[in-house]
Amino acid sequence: MDRKELIKLKCDFLINGLRLNDLRKDLAMQSGWDETRAKRFLPAELKLPKEVFVQVRENPEANFRLRIIENSLVVQDRAGSIICAADFVSQPPFAFEKTSDGKMFSDIVVYNGTCNLNFTWNYFCDYFRTKTACRFCNLTPAQDFYPEENITNSFKNARQIADVIEIAKMYHADPKAILTRGTPSDKNGLGGTIQILEELQKRFGFNGHNDRTKVLFTISPTTNINDVKLMYDMGMHSVSFNFEVFDKGYWKAIVPGKDKYIGRELWENSLIEAVKYFGEGRVFSAMIAGLEPAQTLLEGVEWCAERGIIPIVVPFSPETGSQFEGFRPPTYNWMMDTTRRAADILLEKMPVVGTEDYWQNEAPICAECFTGGFLYDIVKENAGLTNYHSGHSLSKMKITGVEKDIISLN
Ligand code: SF4
Repeated sequence: MDRKELIKLKCDFLINGLRLNDLRKDLAMQSGWDETRAKRFLPAELKLPKEVFVQVRENPEANFRLRIIENSLVVQDRAGSIICAADFVSQPPFAFEKTSDGKMFSDIVVYNGTCNLNFTWNYFCDYFRTKTACRFCNLTPAQDFYPEENITNSFKNARQIADVIEIAKMYHADPKAILTRGTPSDKNGLGGTIQILEELQKRFGFNGHNDRTKVLFTISPTTNINDVKLMYDMGMHSVSFNFEVFDKGYWKAIVPGKDKYIGRELWENSLIEAVKYFGEGRVFSAMIAGLEPAQTLLEGVEWCAERGIIPIVVPFSPETGSQFEGFRPPTYNWMMDTTRRAADILLEKMPVVGTEDYWQNEAPICAECFTGGFLYDIVKENAGLTNYHSGHSLSKMKITGVEKDIISLN
């Protein structure tokens, strides 16, 4: 399979999921796994050939399944034909470390692909309390549904987050991280963010625009637009104010809390304001594909790209505990077509995302390790960029003293 075909396979996996039951039997019968362990096995991500990484969503009706054939992990289609090889994604070498207050890293951070650190540092969103939660979201109820499995759902404080990044910096001089949270009720929604920025500043420092710790903060703008500058001045590298849906009618209906407490006009103005300080390519807005017509979604992609904002397009996945539980994701054909058109718009309006320099030096996330969507896979493929991971894989080698200067970071 060439890389384009593998990106299509990634789309199918994200939309239709994967069958895992035969894999579990293989693990027990062929790989000597204890049956209980095999039954509970649920890989978070998969590495396909040619550096294509994808989230795993289990679905017993999926088109493809994982098997172990002759000691190798493979993807099979419905007819049992082997489509391609696959691999599980190993954790970075520091995954079993502890924070300074004794918390396991596994309670603080998850890893996306081989490059991205991903912190959901606060599962509380005040919009659930005020009954204005985004209708697709299960962030706060998820704590009730997965109290044991989802051990990362407790609050993570600034020092714990900085502890993880500090150790990651021993393995890569410039690690990338995404920080996500629900919207708190205090400080017009800025609560907690300031403490994290202060801790990052204290721990790692920065002098200007280009030496900031690469962290993408996924947050809500506040009711005070001057907070955008405050966050930048405090050292924030990148920010994402997520539209979720672009059409203004859908926005009111699907993200009522954002509409009620911030409002559409301020949301847009905050994004535009952010580009003034953070610059082109360091401001993001996620849109969930499959909740609104392709046309309005693509208008949103264009609106963003024309203003130097990078859209994050991810397929809708109906979550347990959300108001959209039991709904369907979009179809494979719709998702492929819409994402291709989004990639064309993005490359045309924001040519910087078609450069190796952007992904290597500017982007707060690794394109290949963004495993829940494939817009950036298509963008890089269409732009002919082949420096996968852009030198950002978390090295297996620890960087110490003098070695720090001479070790290749690839
Ligand atoms: S703002 Fe919306 S998407 Fe974000 S956590 Fe709250 S309800 Fe969920």
